[in-house]
Amino acid sequence: MQTKPLTEQEVQQIRAETKGTVEKIHFNNAGASFPPDIVVETIINYLTEEAMYGGYETEFKYNSAIENVYASIAKLINANIDEVAIVENASTGWGLAFNGITFKKGDVIITTEMEYSTNLLSFINAKRNDGAEFIIIPNDEQGNFQLAALEAAITPQTKLIAITHIPSAAGGMLPIIEIGKIANKHNILYLLDACQTVGHAPIDVKEIGCDMLSVTGRKYMRAPRGTGFLFVKRSLLDKLTISFMDGHTVEWMTCNDYKLRDGARRFELYEKNRALILGLGKAVDYALHIGMDRIWQRIQYLANIMRQQLKSIDGTAVHDTGDQQCGIVTFSVNGMEATTVKNKLAEKNINVSVSMPRTTLIYMNKNHLDSIIRASVHYYNTEEEIKIFYDAIKSIQ
Ligand SMILES: *Cc1c(COP(=O)(O)O)cnc(C)c1O
Repeated sequence: MQTKPLTEQEVQQIRAETKGTVEKIHFNNAGASFPPDIVVETIINYLTEEAMYGGYETEFKYNSAIENVYASIAKLINANIDEVAIVENASTGWGLAFNGITFKKGDVIITTEMEYSTNLLSFINAKRNDGAEFIIIPNDEQGNFQLAALEAAITPQTKLIAITHIPSAAGGMLPIIEIGKIANKHNILYLLDACQTVGHAPIDVKEIGCDMLSVTGRKYMRAPRGTGFLFVKRSLLDKLTISFMDGHTVEWMTCNDYKLRDGARRFELYEKNRALILGLGKAVDYALHIGMDRIWQRIQYLANIMRQQLKSIDGTAVHDTGDQQCGIVTFSVNGMEATTVKNKLAEKNINVSVSMPRTTLIYMNKNHLDSIIRASVHYYNTEEEIKIFYDAIKSIQ
């Protein structure tokens, strides 16, 4: 099916609905992207109503709107509504899933060199506390994931395949559908960190065949900070243990017993910021309205222009490797600290970020990258902004 590109007029309309684009050229979308105005208005209105009419009373009024957020998320990733839990950030979602798995001595976790460093901490803990092992499958020289090496590493001890789809500090992507086929063929749990993916590229949990998937709101999803969600496949729910509980987690309890509620919402606690959840829902609806295929197409188009332009500048190195690249562009300017470049760009109203090994440790250490500049484009960015960025890099060199 042919994807219809975003028209110039649509991009202008989207920018008119995004306050942030007026003042800044924002290439820190992998950090936190600009929310659409409607997201901010929704949150402010809800908080105002809470202050005027009461928190519980306002929740009651917005009950069905809050329910609809789960439906929107389910639609976005092709899940069932009862497979979605809304949490505060991706780390919480990922941690609830990972810590729900019972590891025993000798169990093996397989991961990649692109894995998010926070996840690595949990692998280390599973090793220290439970005697589990973890194996890292390196990328090949071209920066592509080696599916054959993954399959060769699988043994009867393999308990989990944990993959970060889009790494925090590199522009390459992992072949999650092909990895899913291998995981399913060998009947191994498959946990996907899709923190940088949702809102960026289409995600279909059924097509991927993942068991668990974690997402944050503030990055490509354009939702407020302090939001995220977790997907857990229905058939897996009863096999995961729950770390935190309250009266909302269970359906009934006696002094001696309880029964967990149905669905992934057993991973949630009662108290949460309902204004932000509604904001998250608006951001998801906004993306659905444009269409994830079209968003993804435009992001690749813009990132490709940015990479080509950076590569044409002498003394600038683009680090992204691999056949399939995304909206995250990482580079260095010869003889200049990444932070200096970032600050000089900030003086020109251009936002980028600096990536340090603490986000993508194995990959950055392997490639001797101690700090790199990350310019991450979103669909609301424009060719003109990229040209201004290109001129700015040339002038500060
Ligand atoms: C940012 C990021 C996370 C953590 O997300 P939080 O919402 O900050 O917890 C996890 N994985 C990847 C790949 C990330 O880029």
